[in-house]
Amino acid sequence: MFDQESCGIFFMRMVWDVIVIGAGIGGLTAASYLVKEGLRVLVLDRNPHIGGTAYVYHRQGFTFPMGPLGFSHPDLVKKVFDELGIGEGLNFLRVHYRLRAFGLDGPLSLPFSEIAAELRNQFPSGAKGVERFFRDIKKWISNRELDPETQRPNPNLPLSASEYLRKLIKDWRLRRILGSLGTREPYSNLPLLAAMWNLMCNVGIWFPEEGMKSFCERLKRAIEPIPNSDRMIRLNKGVTKIRVKHGKVEGVTLEDGNEIDAPYVISNADYRTTFLKLLDSHTIPSKWYQAISNAPLTSSIFQVCLGIDPNKIDLSLFKEASRVIYRRKFDMDQEEEKIDWTQSKIDPRGLACQEIEVSLWGNRREKEAKTSIILRVEANYDHFARYRLGWRKRSQEYQNYKTQLAQGIVREVAHLVPGLENSILIMDVATPLTFEDQGGRSQGAVAGWSWNYEDFRDDEPKELILTPIKGLYMNRLSSLLSPFYGRNSHSVGEWKTSCPSPYLRHRSHPKDSDSRRSVWRNLTSDLSLRTSKLPYPGLKKCGSFFEIIGSK
Ligand SMILES: Cc1cc2nc3c(=O)[nH]c(=O)nc-3n(C[C@H](O)[C@H](O)[C@H](O)COP(=O)(O)OP(=O)(O)OC[C@H]3O[C@@H](n4cnc5c(N)ncnc54)[C@H](O)[C@@H]3O)c2cc1C
Repeated sequence: MFDQESCGIFFMRMVWDVIVIGAGIGGLTAASYLVKEGLRVLVLDRNPHIGGTAYVYHRQGFTFPMGPLGFSHPDLVKKVFDELGIGEGLNFLRVHYRLRAFGLDGPLSLPFSEIAAELRNQFPSGAKGVERFFRDIKKWISNRELDPETQRPNPNLPLSASEYLRKLIKDWRLRRILGSLGTREPYSNLPLLAAMWNLMCNVGIWFPEEGMKSFCERLKRAIEPIPNSDRMIRLNKGVTKIRVKHGKVEGVTLEDGNEIDAPYVISNADYRTTFLKLLDSHTIPSKWYQAISNAPLTSSIFQVCLGIDPNKIDLSLFKEASRVIYRRKFDMDQEEEKIDWTQSKIDPRGLACQEIEVSLWGNRREKEAKTSIILRVEANYDHFARYRLGWRKRSQEYQNYKTQLAQGIVREVAHLVPGLENSILIMDVATPLTFEDQGGRSQGAVAGWSWNYEDFRDDEPKELILTPIKGLYMNRLSSLLSPFYGRNSHSVGEWKTSCPSPYLRHRSHPKDSDSRRSVWRNLTSDLSLRTSKLPYPGLKKCGSFFEIIGSK
């Protein structure tokens, strides 16, 4: 056996084919495929544990999630694990969602025909609109609305979910439910909305029977069957630079100043982190750099994790569904409570008035498992950034402030879950800063590039696994711009021509929108990925895992 020191020397001296930056679920999946191809693969992560955002942490015997509460396309996930030889005994449980908002209470995880019937009952005057909506989204899902020649969406159809629903549905509550699978104003494009309904109702949201952390543990086994060999995961090894010479990757520099060489680097770090922090700006085309700097991301969340005493709480809310989308009843005649995130502090009651995802969390099959409840509200990164002093460093007021916000949310959810406040044994609060530092995600963004229709209106799919730097590949949600279509098993070439996603385009600013749009389009189309270009067959799988992990 190697001791720590000789192990360190070993990994420094080894000749590697590929370095993977990041031991998140995506980096580990990519590394597993490459190991299967017989390559010498080194995975580096700055955290002391594997898993990245899919990490599950422990507090006084309770387990709390750092990120995903579920995933979709279980058949594809299983296929990936089987291909890697680590799928034995992998079982999934369906996660059911319910909506409790606007004075309504109804299930969300039902087949289209049943959910449509539920909504027609609740909104008799909108019955025709509901029928038309589900008919239309079925077409979007099966791509029947694509122009057969260009394989792009019919240009005469509106792409904005909001625009489409405004014409179809009068009742604002129904519009919101159909447009966001929740309580928010519709914000995405129609294909993405259709895909989300498909996930919720047909494909389903799932949870591994062994718990979320089991995914990464299995992947670790696929990468490191033999310790200290030519396939390794090294933790506490942050990368500070991806070294590039004459447009080609040479290797990476670690936080301790050591350099490791490899002809290929796959970055599982956030897209922005990779291009704006890990690469020297002079190695990247300036237009590419600017496009990435300005491209908006999805928002982040504020999360309250509660370890509870099940004897002091009424958990009947979760009988039919372990996830509840909740919003306090309000009337559209009254002004909707909007949060002014530019204020240095927001009113906890204001935050509690927003849509709250209430989840009964944990592996219910484990006898010893303790009961946890997770509460999540959308949150603005910039608001919390004022409390950030550095990596994992916060100003003094931060702790108090986030606790007050959390207490506000708990008070609100206690209306829904009787006994909640008195049952709490432990409370742990995460903000966008936590998700930024723990997962290494820029701005703590939950799901890569913005999903807002207004941000990316393009009707062309874009492919960002290949980069302008030879030998550098991107691997995570933000490298595939149509993350919810479940096309991971197809070649990316096929994906490119068949995907209707109007996903990534540069945010259009009124003055120079056309030139910015074309800049982004040219950049990304130059990089269209052909399978034949890939150096190793295994690489085409990289980035795939995020596609199949998708939930609300
Ligand atoms: C709060 C939150 C909730 C989410 N909920 C869901 C959900 O319910 N369902 C769902 O499907 N998805 C959800 N997601 C998205 C989810 O995180 C992804 O599906 C998946 O976990 C992302 O995996 P990844 O490998 O792409 O990235 P990450 O898990 O973020 O991994 C990136 C890794 O790179 C490492 N890294 C970064 N920079 C460096 C560096 N310089 N040097 C070395 N290592 C570095 C990080 O430490 C990290 O381990 C959520 C995300 C967040 C933030």
